[in-house]
Amino acid sequence: MKNSKKLNLKKFYIGVDVGGTTIKFGIFDGNKKFIEQFAVETEFREKNAEKAIANDMLNAIENYCDDNEYGVTKSKVAGIGYAIPGPVVNNQVLRAVNINWKKKYDLVKETKKRIGNKVNVRVYNDANAAALGEYKLTLKGKYKSICLMTLGTAVGIGIIINGKLIEGKSGVAGELSHLKVDFSENAMKCNCGNTGCLETVTGGRGIANVYNRMYNTDTAHGAQDVIRRAKEGEEKSLAALEKSLDYLSMVISIIMLVYEPEIILIGGGVSNEGTFITDIIMKHLKEKVFITKTFPKIMIAKLKNKAGFYGAVSEL
Ligand SMILES: [Zn+2]
Repeated sequence: MKNSKKLNLKKFYIGVDVGGTTIKFGIFDGNKKFIEQFAVETEFREKNAEKAIANDMLNAIENYCDDNEYGVTKSKVAGIGYAIPGPVVNNQVLRAVNINWKKKYDLVKETKKRIGNKVNVRVYNDANAAALGEYKLTLKGKYKSICLMTLGTAVGIGIIINGKLIEGKSGVAGELSHLKVDFSENAMKCNCGNTGCLETVTGGRGIANVYNRMYNTDTAHGAQDVIRRAKEGEEKSLAALEKSLDYLSMVISIIMLVYEPEIILIGGGVSNEGTFITDIIMKHLKEKVFITKTFPKIMIAKLKNKAGFYGAVSEL
Protein backbone atom coordinates (compact mmCIF):
# COMPACT_ATOMS: atom_id res chain seq x y z
CA MET A 1 0.00 0.00 0.00
CA LYS A 2 1.25 3.46 -0.86
CA ASN A 3 2.47 5.82 1.81
CA SER A 4 -0.63 7.89 2.30
CA LYS A 5 -0.59 9.42 5.77
CA LYS A 6 -2.91 12.24 4.94
CA LEU A 7 -5.53 10.22 3.11
CA ASN A 8 -8.69 8.83 4.67
CA LEU A 9 -8.62 5.27 3.38
CA LYS A 10 -11.59 3.97 5.33
CA LYS A 11 -13.92 4.64 2.45
CA PHE A 12 -13.72 5.84 -1.13
CA TYR A 13 -15.67 7.64 -3.83
CA ILE A 14 -15.40 7.03 -7.55
CA GLY A 15 -16.26 9.62 -10.21
CA VAL A 16 -16.84 8.38 -13.76
CA ASP A 17 -16.80 10.73 -16.75
CA VAL A 18 -18.04 9.16 -19.97
CA GLY A 19 -16.71 10.75 -23.15
CA GLY A 20 -16.88 9.84 -26.81
CA THR A 21 -13.35 8.38 -26.89
CA THR A 22 -12.52 7.52 -23.27
CA ILE A 23 -14.24 6.82 -19.98
CA LYS A 24 -12.29 8.49 -17.17
CA PHE A 25 -12.38 7.29 -13.56
CA GLY A 26 -11.33 9.48 -10.64
CA ILE A 27 -10.64 7.83 -7.28
CA PHE A 28 -11.24 9.93 -4.15
CA ASP A 29 -10.59 9.19 -0.48
CA GLY A 30 -13.14 9.34 2.37
CA ASN A 31 -12.77 13.13 2.50
CA LYS A 32 -13.23 13.38 -1.27
CA LYS A 33 -9.58 14.15 -1.76
CA PHE A 34 -8.44 13.14 -5.23
CA ILE A 35 -6.11 10.13 -5.21
CA GLU A 36 -5.61 8.96 -8.76
CA GLN A 37 -7.27 8.46 -12.10
CA PHE A 38 -7.37 5.96 -14.92
CA ALA A 39 -9.24 5.60 -18.18
CA VAL A 40 -10.59 2.96 -20.51
CA GLU A 41 -11.52 3.36 -24.16
CA THR A 42 -15.16 4.07 -24.99
CA GLU A 43 -16.12 1.27 -27.32
CA PHE A 44 -18.79 2.25 -29.85
CA ARG A 45 -21.70 -0.20 -29.68
CA GLU A 46 -24.17 -0.71 -32.49
CA LYS A 47 -26.78 -2.35 -30.27
CA ASN A 48 -27.86 -2.04 -26.63
CA ALA A 49 -25.11 0.50 -26.07
CA GLU A 50 -26.52 1.55 -22.70
CA LYS A 51 -26.20 -1.92 -21.22
CA ALA A 52 -22.83 -2.60 -22.84
CA ILE A 53 -21.27 0.69 -21.76
CA ALA A 54 -22.65 0.35 -18.22
CA ASN A 55 -21.09 -3.11 -18.18
CA ASP A 56 -17.73 -1.71 -19.39
CA MET A 57 -17.76 0.90 -16.62
CA LEU A 58 -18.70 -1.53 -13.88
CA ASN A 59 -16.11 -4.06 -15.09
CA ALA A 60 -13.44 -1.37 -14.92
CA ILE A 61 -14.51 -0.43 -11.37
CA GLU A 62 -14.54 -4.09 -10.28
CA ASN A 63 -11.11 -4.66 -11.80
CA TYR A 64 -9.76 -1.59 -10.04
CA CYS A 65 -11.25 -2.76 -6.72
CA ASP A 66 -9.51 -6.12 -7.17
CA ASP A 67 -6.11 -4.56 -7.70
CA ASN A 68 -4.98 -1.10 -6.57
CA GLU A 69 -2.45 0.50 -4.26
CA TYR A 70 -4.81 2.24 -1.84
CA GLY A 71 -6.85 -0.64 -0.45
CA VAL A 72 -9.99 0.24 -2.38
CA THR A 73 -12.41 -2.69 -2.29
CA LYS A 74 -16.05 -2.92 -3.32
CA SER A 75 -17.17 -2.86 0.31
CA LYS A 76 -15.22 0.36 0.93
CA VAL A 77 -16.79 2.22 -1.99
CA ALA A 78 -19.25 4.65 -0.37
CA GLY A 79 -20.38 6.37 -3.53
CA ILE A 80 -20.12 6.42 -7.31
CA GLY A 81 -21.00 9.46 -9.41
CA TYR A 82 -21.43 9.42 -13.18
CA ALA A 83 -21.13 12.22 -15.74
CA ILE A 84 -22.92 11.16 -18.93
CA PRO A 85 -22.98 13.04 -22.26
CA GLY A 86 -26.76 13.29 -22.53
CA PRO A 87 -29.86 14.46 -20.69
CA VAL A 88 -30.32 13.10 -17.17
CA VAL A 89 -33.39 13.57 -15.02
CA ASN A 90 -33.88 12.28 -11.47
CA ASN A 91 -30.71 10.19 -11.63
CA GLN A 92 -31.86 8.47 -14.84
CA VAL A 93 -30.03 8.73 -18.15
CA LEU A 94 -32.57 9.41 -20.90
CA ARG A 95 -30.18 9.02 -23.83
CA ALA A 96 -26.65 9.89 -24.98
CA VAL A 97 -26.60 10.10 -28.77
CA ASN A 98 -22.82 10.52 -29.17
CA ILE A 99 -22.24 7.07 -27.66
CA ASN A 100 -25.33 5.53 -29.27
CA TRP A 101 -27.08 5.27 -25.89
CA LYS A 102 -30.62 5.33 -27.19
CA LYS A 103 -32.98 4.68 -24.34
CA LYS A 104 -33.62 5.32 -20.67
CA TYR A 105 -31.37 3.21 -18.50
CA ASP A 106 -31.24 2.67 -14.74
CA LEU A 107 -27.54 3.01 -14.05
CA VAL A 108 -28.24 3.37 -10.31
CA LYS A 109 -29.89 -0.03 -10.05
CA GLU A 110 -27.20 -1.74 -12.11
CA THR A 111 -24.41 -0.13 -10.08
CA LYS A 112 -25.95 -1.22 -6.77
CA LYS A 113 -26.39 -4.74 -8.12
CA ARG A 114 -22.76 -5.02 -9.14
CA ILE A 115 -20.85 -2.97 -6.57
CA GLY A 116 -23.09 -3.12 -3.51
CA ASN A 117 -26.52 -2.14 -2.28
CA LYS A 118 -25.21 0.47 0.12
CA VAL A 119 -23.31 2.40 -2.53
CA ASN A 120 -24.69 5.87 -2.98
CA VAL A 121 -25.08 6.59 -6.72
CA ARG A 122 -25.60 9.90 -8.51
CA VAL A 123 -25.94 10.45 -12.24
CA TYR A 124 -25.49 13.81 -13.99
CA ASN A 125 -25.29 15.26 -17.43
CA ASP A 126 -21.54 15.77 -18.07
CA ALA A 127 -21.69 19.54 -18.58
CA ASN A 128 -23.69 19.87 -15.37
CA ALA A 129 -21.26 17.63 -13.45
CA ALA A 130 -18.35 19.75 -14.68
CA ALA A 131 -20.14 22.92 -13.56
CA LEU A 132 -20.71 21.37 -10.13
CA GLY A 133 -17.04 20.40 -9.92
CA GLU A 134 -15.86 23.95 -10.63
CA TYR A 135 -18.56 25.41 -8.39
CA LYS A 136 -17.64 23.30 -5.38
CA LEU A 137 -13.90 22.83 -5.80
CA THR A 138 -12.56 25.80 -7.71
CA LEU A 139 -14.90 28.52 -6.50
CA LYS A 140 -15.56 26.94 -3.09
CA GLY A 141 -18.85 28.71 -2.49
CA LYS A 142 -17.44 32.15 -3.29
CA TYR A 143 -20.11 32.55 -5.98
CA LYS A 144 -23.65 31.18 -5.81
CA SER A 145 -24.59 31.57 -9.47
CA ILE A 146 -22.23 30.41 -12.18
CA CYS A 147 -22.18 29.16 -15.74
CA LEU A 148 -19.50 26.83 -17.10
CA MET A 149 -19.02 26.73 -20.86
CA THR A 150 -16.76 23.84 -21.85
CA LEU A 151 -15.36 24.58 -25.30
CA GLY A 152 -13.88 21.22 -26.20
CA THR A 153 -14.40 19.54 -29.55
CA ALA A 154 -18.07 19.87 -28.66
CA VAL A 155 -19.60 22.56 -26.46
CA GLY A 156 -21.10 21.81 -23.03
CA ILE A 157 -22.94 24.32 -20.88
CA GLY A 158 -23.83 23.88 -17.20
CA ILE A 159 -25.70 26.51 -15.19
CA ILE A 160 -25.95 26.71 -11.39
CA ILE A 161 -28.19 29.41 -9.93
CA ASN A 162 -28.31 30.07 -6.19
CA GLY A 163 -26.44 26.82 -5.66
CA LYS A 164 -28.87 24.72 -7.68
CA LEU A 165 -28.21 23.00 -11.00
CA ILE A 166 -30.65 24.01 -13.72
CA GLU A 167 -31.81 20.72 -15.29
CA GLY A 168 -35.39 21.35 -16.44
CA LYS A 169 -38.27 18.96 -16.92
CA SER A 170 -36.51 16.66 -19.37
CA GLY A 171 -32.88 17.53 -18.80
CA VAL A 172 -32.40 20.01 -21.63
CA ALA A 173 -32.42 23.26 -19.62
CA GLY A 174 -29.10 24.97 -20.15
CA GLU A 175 -28.32 23.02 -23.34
CA LEU A 176 -27.64 26.27 -25.14
CA SER A 177 -24.95 24.65 -27.28
CA HIS A 178 -27.97 23.73 -29.40
CA LEU A 179 -29.41 27.22 -29.57
CA LYS A 180 -29.59 28.24 -33.22
CA VAL A 181 -27.35 31.28 -33.65
CA ASP A 182 -26.35 31.04 -37.30
CA PHE A 183 -29.30 31.83 -39.55
CA SER A 184 -27.33 32.08 -42.78
CA GLU A 185 -28.40 29.96 -45.76
CA ASN A 186 -25.34 27.75 -45.58
CA ALA A 187 -25.52 27.25 -41.79
CA MET A 188 -23.83 24.01 -40.83
CA LYS A 189 -25.63 20.86 -39.79
CA CYS A 190 -25.40 19.93 -36.12
CA ASN A 191 -25.37 16.43 -34.58
CA CYS A 192 -28.77 17.19 -33.03
CA GLY A 193 -30.38 17.47 -36.48
CA ASN A 194 -30.76 21.25 -36.53
CA THR A 195 -28.51 23.65 -38.45
CA GLY A 196 -26.55 26.62 -37.13
CA CYS A 197 -26.42 25.57 -33.46
CA LEU A 198 -23.81 27.32 -31.29
CA GLU A 199 -21.80 24.08 -31.31
CA THR A 200 -21.37 24.32 -35.11
CA VAL A 201 -19.72 27.75 -34.86
CA THR A 202 -17.74 27.68 -31.63
CA GLY A 203 -15.62 25.24 -29.62
CA GLY A 204 -12.91 23.09 -31.19
CA ARG A 205 -14.84 22.04 -34.25
CA GLY A 206 -16.89 25.22 -34.59
CA ILE A 207 -13.97 27.67 -34.72
CA ALA A 208 -12.41 25.64 -37.53
CA ASN A 209 -15.80 25.49 -39.28
CA VAL A 210 -16.12 29.28 -39.18
CA TYR A 211 -12.61 29.75 -40.57
CA ASN A 212 -13.14 27.24 -43.37
CA ARG A 213 -16.44 28.77 -44.36
CA MET A 214 -15.21 32.38 -44.24
CA TYR A 215 -12.31 31.62 -46.55
CA ASN A 216 -13.91 28.83 -48.56
CA THR A 217 -11.22 26.33 -47.62
CA ASP A 218 -10.82 23.13 -45.63
CA THR A 219 -7.39 23.87 -44.20
CA ALA A 220 -8.44 24.47 -40.58
CA HIS A 221 -8.86 21.12 -38.82
CA GLY A 222 -9.14 22.26 -35.23
CA ALA A 223 -9.39 25.43 -33.21
CA GLN A 224 -5.84 25.42 -31.85
CA ASP A 225 -4.14 26.49 -35.10
CA VAL A 226 -6.67 29.24 -35.72
CA ILE A 227 -6.28 30.52 -32.15
CA ARG A 228 -2.50 30.38 -32.29
CA ARG A 229 -2.32 32.31 -35.56
CA ALA A 230 -4.89 34.82 -34.29
CA LYS A 231 -2.74 35.39 -31.21
CA GLU A 232 0.28 35.99 -33.43
CA GLY A 233 -1.76 38.71 -35.13
CA GLU A 234 -2.60 36.94 -38.38
CA GLU A 235 -5.66 38.86 -39.61
CA LYS A 236 -7.70 36.11 -41.26
CA SER A 237 -7.50 33.83 -38.23
CA LEU A 238 -8.27 36.68 -35.86
CA ALA A 239 -11.36 37.62 -37.88
CA ALA A 240 -12.60 34.00 -37.79
CA LEU A 241 -11.96 33.69 -34.05
CA GLU A 242 -13.74 37.00 -33.39
CA LYS A 243 -16.74 35.85 -35.40
CA SER A 244 -16.90 32.54 -33.53
CA LEU A 245 -16.62 34.17 -30.10
CA ASP A 246 -19.20 36.74 -31.17
CA TYR A 247 -21.71 33.87 -31.55
CA LEU A 248 -20.65 32.59 -28.13
CA SER A 249 -21.14 36.02 -26.58
CA MET A 250 -24.66 36.10 -28.01
CA VAL A 251 -25.51 33.01 -25.99
CA ILE A 252 -23.76 34.43 -22.92
CA SER A 253 -25.87 37.59 -23.25
CA ILE A 254 -29.02 35.44 -23.12
CA ILE A 255 -27.80 33.54 -20.05
CA MET A 256 -26.86 36.86 -18.45
CA LEU A 257 -30.27 38.41 -19.07
CA VAL A 258 -32.18 35.33 -17.90
CA TYR A 259 -30.13 34.38 -14.82
CA GLU A 260 -27.48 37.05 -14.25
CA PRO A 261 -24.79 34.64 -12.99
CA GLU A 262 -21.87 36.23 -11.15
CA ILE A 263 -19.29 34.37 -13.14
CA ILE A 264 -18.90 32.69 -16.53
CA LEU A 265 -16.17 30.05 -16.59
CA ILE A 266 -14.64 29.01 -19.89
CA GLY A 267 -13.20 25.49 -20.01
CA GLY A 268 -12.06 22.95 -22.61
CA GLY A 269 -9.16 23.13 -25.05
CA VAL A 270 -10.14 26.58 -26.34
CA SER A 271 -9.61 28.01 -22.84
CA ASN A 272 -5.87 27.23 -22.94
CA GLU A 273 -5.17 30.70 -24.33
CA GLY A 274 -6.61 32.33 -21.20
CA THR A 275 -7.29 36.06 -21.22
CA PHE A 276 -6.68 36.30 -24.97
CA ILE A 277 -9.96 34.40 -25.33
CA THR A 278 -11.91 35.86 -22.39
CA ASP A 279 -11.06 39.46 -23.42
CA ILE A 280 -12.52 38.89 -26.89
CA ILE A 281 -15.66 37.31 -25.39
CA MET A 282 -16.12 40.23 -22.97
CA LYS A 283 -15.64 42.79 -25.75
CA HIS A 284 -18.45 41.20 -27.79
CA LEU A 285 -20.67 40.72 -24.75
CA LYS A 286 -20.45 44.43 -23.98
CA GLU A 287 -21.57 45.20 -27.53
CA LYS A 288 -24.78 43.27 -26.87
CA VAL A 289 -26.04 44.22 -23.42
CA PHE A 290 -26.81 47.86 -22.70
CA ILE A 291 -29.29 47.64 -19.86
CA THR A 292 -26.62 47.24 -17.18
CA LYS A 293 -22.96 48.01 -16.67
CA THR A 294 -22.59 45.13 -14.23
CA PHE A 295 -21.24 42.21 -16.25
CA PRO A 296 -20.43 38.73 -15.00
CA LYS A 297 -16.74 37.99 -14.61
CA ILE A 298 -15.43 35.80 -17.41
CA MET A 299 -12.70 33.50 -16.18
CA ILE A 300 -10.88 30.31 -17.15
CA ALA A 301 -12.03 27.06 -15.52
CA LYS A 302 -9.41 25.28 -13.41
CA LEU A 303 -10.19 21.56 -13.22
CA LYS A 304 -9.66 20.94 -16.94
CA ASN A 305 -10.59 17.37 -17.89
CA LYS A 306 -11.05 16.37 -14.24
CA ALA A 307 -14.09 18.65 -13.78
CA GLY A 308 -16.58 15.93 -14.75
CA PHE A 309 -15.55 13.31 -12.23
CA TYR A 310 -14.88 15.86 -9.49
CA GLY A 311 -18.42 17.18 -9.93
CA ALA A 312 -19.92 13.69 -10.13
CA VAL A 313 -18.74 12.84 -6.60
CA SER A 314 -19.27 16.29 -5.10
CA GLU A 315 -22.78 15.67 -3.80
CA LEU A 316 -22.34 12.09 -2.62
ZN1 LIG B 1 -27.51 21.20 -32.27
